[in-house]
Amino acid sequence: MEKTLIEVKYVITCNRNFDIIKNAAITFENGKITYAGSSKNIPYSKSYFDNIIVEEDGIAIPGLINCHTHAAMNLFRGACDDLPLKLWLEKKIWPLESKLTSEDIVYGNLLSFLEMLSCGTTTFVDFYYFNELIEALKIIPLRAVATIAFLDQVPDGEVYWRRFKELQKYFDMANSIKDGLVKVALGPHAIYTCSKELLEKIVEVSEKHNLLVHMHVSETLEEVQFSNKKFGLTPIEYLDKIGILNEKMIAAHCVHLKERDINILQEKRVNCVHNPSSNMKLADGVMPLSDLLKANINVCLGTDGAASSNSLNLFNEMRTAILLQRGVNLDPTFPSAKDALLMATVNGAKAIGLYNHIGSIEANKKADIVIINGRSPRLCPEYDIVSNIVYSCTPADIIFTIVNGRILYERGKFPNIDMEKIVKEFNEKALKLLSTN
Ligand SMILES: [Zn+2]
Repeated sequence: MEKTLIEVKYVITCNRNFDIIKNAAITFENGKITYAGSSKNIPYSKSYFDNIIVEEDGIAIPGLINCHTHAAMNLFRGACDDLPLKLWLEKKIWPLESKLTSEDIVYGNLLSFLEMLSCGTTTFVDFYYFNELIEALKIIPLRAVATIAFLDQVPDGEVYWRRFKELQKYFDMANSIKDGLVKVALGPHAIYTCSKELLEKIVEVSEKHNLLVHMHVSETLEEVQFSNKKFGLTPIEYLDKIGILNEKMIAAHCVHLKERDINILQEKRVNCVHNPSSNMKLADGVMPLSDLLKANINVCLGTDGAASSNSLNLFNEMRTAILLQRGVNLDPTFPSAKDALLMATVNGAKAIGLYNHIGSIEANKKADIVIINGRSPRLCPEYDIVSNIVYSCTPADIIFTIVNGRILYERGKFPNIDMEKIVKEFNEKALKLLSTN
């Protein structure tokens, strides 16, 4: 693979010291960062490199990590904007999903990859159709966690139990993507769609194969009421009793939490995914983000699917997460812009067990890098560049998105990807699907 040198004005490393390097260089080869530091001390001569990129006003940040999405749900973007979660799911989404073809889903995924790359996202945690996700990743190689969905408290729910017998097939599919870009997670959908037996089986299989568990947790008041009525426990207490809460759990939403729930999440080292736009749009409520961060719980960010939040833009989620807490808590001091950037990078990497590989720009980590145009009118003056990135930056300011050393997005274009075809096919398929509903 090519040896690349990138020179920029700043690198926001997101390393343990949160170093910001001025007049900086990053070098990488075979998908791995070999140097990140001052441009004066590059340990190679320029002739060593096949590819040299100089962005005099560029700001490099680690690739953003979207820890909860349903990538191909962009097929339903704008189709059901004004319903509560239960009706949204049962009356709109499930009937639409019953009409999806495999090709629809592949194109939904491909279009979402274009959106994510143009928004600086290099890694995402998906919860949707596994096979079609892998098909799409063969065409556009982002880094991903692919979730095997399980739900048995629905019509035909027994089919999901068969998946436990086909695990090797899922592992093989994930391994068919080169460079180890794909990791597998088990995905019990939620406590109201999964039986206790199913959740117990998930615990057993997760332990046996050391797999992440990705689940919707305490998203709505309705879910909390269901849990109280059926189990006499909060959703968190119930999940804890089953033994499913640990450092492998990626718990999406965690909106409605009692003090005791927060203690359990802390004690069991659960990773919580904040999806502020989705939670607001579906009128679910507000995650007590400040309380979770103060309890040292690992909180990362997600966009949820584009059918619920309409956008896969994590810059938007960083900003919204902070503003929402301030609006609710009336405390302008916490959390900060830096906290938001860490949630979208380092914390995401920790949540999916990849902190040794991604989440910061440091030697020996993977070259998942985003370069932003520091001369964008939105990002001047360069007084506090972290504040600028979180509060002012938009995807229009992104110059490069690099995944595992490959430039997948450059100045509005996607090198080696037929964007025109993907957009055209996607639109035809989505409109056909929606018009028959
Ligand atoms: Zn979701």
